[in-house]
Amino acid sequence: MTNLKLKLVHLYPLFLNIYGDIGNIRVLQKRCEWRGIELEIQQFNIGDNLDIGTDIFFIGGGQDRQQVEVSEDLQKYKTLLTDEYENNAVFLGICGGYQLMGEYYQPHDAERLEGINILDAHTVAGSTRFIGNVTAKIDYLGENSTLVGFENHSGLTYLRGDTKPMAEIIIGNGNNGADKTEGARSKNAFGTYLHGSFLPKNPHFADYMIKLALQKRYNDEFNLEPLDDTLEFKAHESVLNKAY
Ligand code: GLN
Repeated sequence: MTNLKLKLVHLYPLFLNIYGDIGNIRVLQKRCEWRGIELEIQQFNIGDNLDIGTDIFFIGGGQDRQQVEVSEDLQKYKTLLTDEYENNAVFLGICGGYQLMGEYYQPHDAERLEGINILDAHTVAGSTRFIGNVTAKIDYLGENSTLVGFENHSGLTYLRGDTKPMAEIIIGNGNNGADKTEGARSKNAFGTYLHGSFLPKNPHFADYMIKLALQKRYNDEFNLEPLDDTLEFKAHESVLNKAY
């Protein structure tokens, strides 16, 4: 048992979790538990209070109508969340949640939804729904590292400024089906279109998030004890390079 602790806030699980994205929380919970790291998990929904001092924020995916309510409520916490981002908190947004981490999401037949703008990105609803398996290459998790998942979105996301892609598309559409980018990263804030859910098939990314969160909280580098990820990488390989 270590004395290491982390705090995770799950943003709007009652609204943005229709693709089983809560599986990402389970992975972070277990990978901390298996290493004796105490992970406090707090759910935050409309009407709750959000306080400072969070190490990891998670926001899942959802349909346009849920995004309307979340977009409105998020504006009350834009400054707080931006301060946390500047303080190197780790964010992971999936699809609809990712879109609201950017400047805005313009749905087909609704008002523009304001995001919290911690990612220099914007999203507009496209005419095609991208549905299928995705394989993408990520260049900061070791040689030939890949990410896999399942995409289901019509939003087309475009990055600018210091916000870089999280990965490069090998198979699938990713951000917009045109520029071969998948997801986004700025500081420790990550967004991705990969459902599945994402982290169970990408344990190396889950560990990267935990390391970044520990570094942020304790201002020190940590080498995590390796885990037996045989099963997780069997699941990874079951999707790897699998076309639609
Ligand atoms: N409603 C958004 C879109 O269709 C997000 C969907 C999602 O979260 N999977 O692009």
